[in-house]
Amino acid sequence: MESVQEHYDSMKSAILKYSPHVDMALVDAAYLYAAEKHKDQKRKDGSPYIIHPLAVAQIVAEMGLDTDAILASLLHDCIEDTDSTHDEIARKFGKTVADLVEAVTKLTRVNFTSMEEEQMENLRKMFLAMSKDIRVIIIKIADRLHNTRTMQYQTPAKQRSKSLETMEIYAPLAHRLGMQKIKWELEDTSLQYLDPIGYADISKQLDKKEAETDQVMQSIREKIESRLRENGIEFQMYGRVKHIYSIYRKMYSQNKSLDEVYDLYAYRIIVRDIADCYNVLGHIHDLFNLVPGRFKDYISTPKPNGYQSLHTTVIGSEGIPFEVQIRTEQMHHTAEYGVAAHWKYKENINAKGGEEEFEWVRRLLENQQDSEAEDFISNMKIDMFDDEVFVFTPRGEVISLPSGSTPIDFAYAIHSEVGNHMVGAKINNRIVNYDTVLQNGDIVEVITSKSAKGPSRDWLLLCKSNQARVKIRQWYKKERREENVAAGKQSFDEELRRIGIHPSVVNDEKLLPTLLKKVAFGSLDDMYAAIGYGGLTAAKAVNRMKEDLLKSQRSAKAEESDQPQEELASFNKKSGKVATSGIIVEDIENCMIKFARCCTPVPGDDIVGFITKGFGVSVHRRDCPNAAGAASPENDGRWVKVTWASTPLENYSTSFELECTDRDGLALDVAMAITAMKLRCSELAARADHKGGCMVYVTVEVRNVTELNSIKSRLSGIRGVRNVKRGRS
Ligand code: MN
Repeated sequence: MESVQEHYDSMKSAILKYSPHVDMALVDAAYLYAAEKHKDQKRKDGSPYIIHPLAVAQIVAEMGLDTDAILASLLHDCIEDTDSTHDEIARKFGKTVADLVEAVTKLTRVNFTSMEEEQMENLRKMFLAMSKDIRVIIIKIADRLHNTRTMQYQTPAKQRSKSLETMEIYAPLAHRLGMQKIKWELEDTSLQYLDPIGYADISKQLDKKEAETDQVMQSIREKIESRLRENGIEFQMYGRVKHIYSIYRKMYSQNKSLDEVYDLYAYRIIVRDIADCYNVLGHIHDLFNLVPGRFKDYISTPKPNGYQSLHTTVIGSEGIPFEVQIRTEQMHHTAEYGVAAHWKYKENINAKGGEEEFEWVRRLLENQQDSEAEDFISNMKIDMFDDEVFVFTPRGEVISLPSGSTPIDFAYAIHSEVGNHMVGAKINNRIVNYDTVLQNGDIVEVITSKSAKGPSRDWLLLCKSNQARVKIRQWYKKERREENVAAGKQSFDEELRRIGIHPSVVNDEKLLPTLLKKVAFGSLDDMYAAIGYGGLTAAKAVNRMKEDLLKSQRSAKAEESDQPQEELASFNKKSGKVATSGIIVEDIENCMIKFARCCTPVPGDDIVGFITKGFGVSVHRRDCPNAAGAASPENDGRWVKVTWASTPLENYSTSFELECTDRDGLALDVAMAITAMKLRCSELAARADHKGGCMVYVTVEVRNVTELNSIKSRLSGIRGVRNVKRGRS
């Protein structure tokens, strides 16, 4: 096991070799600080914890990153594992370093394991979105690389879950950032834990094949080397076997044998400049037979992740196909470290950081002609995520929302029922207001209740997503529909009663289709809703149905009507607004009731009923003069005994006549008195008689005769009112 000193030394030599601009004094300060903070912490293998940050810093240094990134690598576990804070790190090493460490810490806290397949892309996006600075991802990937290298000390369960996470999150990210070398190592190491047998099988086959073909490959290599030397080309040449995971994928997902994997063998030739790349290519094609369709010029058309190289596959006289990759030193570094390579070359030109790195990303984006090259790189543009925020459900699912979203958006993204029943929200386990703006990585929980009243209208102002807005509006439309149906039914029924038709007649199943046809609605509720909306008046609806309803009502009563239709109609118009029910008619069940307009009886009044032709029972006060007149011989047998039900209707319309001495403001005072008594008033009219007298007519709704009497005395008290009479003459 290597000592801390050995790790420190190899980090230092990596810095000196690949990142010579880095401030070594600061690196030492960060190292000592981190070593002190982690001093009581051990790694799984029992070694001092500081070895891990040193190793991560070394990986980052090998990529040629800057001072801030190396400091942040050394400090990357301080906030998470020790009492170190952002403020303290900012004070000692600057705000940028502290921000980097904090961002890495945030990513560390996100648990990516055991995610659903379809969540992966969201997770990768979130990962990028959470790290506004690409260096954060590079450090995080380096962190994972070192943890992968030391995976043998973990439990088998952890090995599997971490390896899966590496395969699904970190390797694709490394690829996306063009960090090919790291991607391969992550994949190959993870594969050892995920499919140890498959891995061992391929390694064994490769070893065997290598031994078989060693001679041949060596002679091919010599052939190329001597040709290039003859032509005075400066170059470095490497033989390379493809990384195991890519062979594994080809063998298992494309069901190929190892012999069928085409580019098993490859040579890489690194030259000084682009001209030499094409120069070498010409020599290779001259020496060997070209395999058609395998030549790719990624120099003139780089891959979206910035990869540049010439690829060609040729077959030597021995019949073994092999690939040759030709590129410059700089292209090679970019191929291995991708986005990270940017720092190496940037620092040589100018040491200033900032906007430039995004410029580099943008340049990559502009090169997206390569269709094979995954949309990965499009996700690399970090500020692309400015309009998206990624948060978690308590179960760890990622929900993507427009940035600026609130718990309301989250709730409706889960399900409209969750939104409609929301009574509270928690972010990271703390109760928050509905207007709290969600941040990347927040864990959001919606508190619901069955008795929730539904969304409030101001939620429309608090939510950001269209989805939430639409669903809230839907809820209101639906709720309004119910209100509208109820309101529409009420006025429709009132209108029916006004013309003496019992509302239940409408529900006649045989009649209903005809009725609905008359008003052109699919259902009664639809019609009621329309009346409630105000799209149709109750009077109009009733008018269209009237003929059919009257016919049906009459035949139902099996009563012959000798009155001509016109008379009925005029009678209908005359009949006043009446309340039904609340009346028990002796010997007759479910009969229609109307209250005589002449005497407007209310509960408590002594009443009698008169069976009218076709309109049920008309209820009069016993002292009504009309009731006395109706008791004529030809009407004999049509008077029935009626009584008030024990649970009468809430309100009965009743009228008063006020005999007054005319004065200014009299009618106003009557109106004020009615308002003060909180009465519903449907009529208030005054008529002067030119002799200084005046009649005021009032129709109000009352519950019973007691209330009626108190209204009567209240009205009598108004100055100028001489007498208050019930009913109308
Ligand atoms: Mn770490």
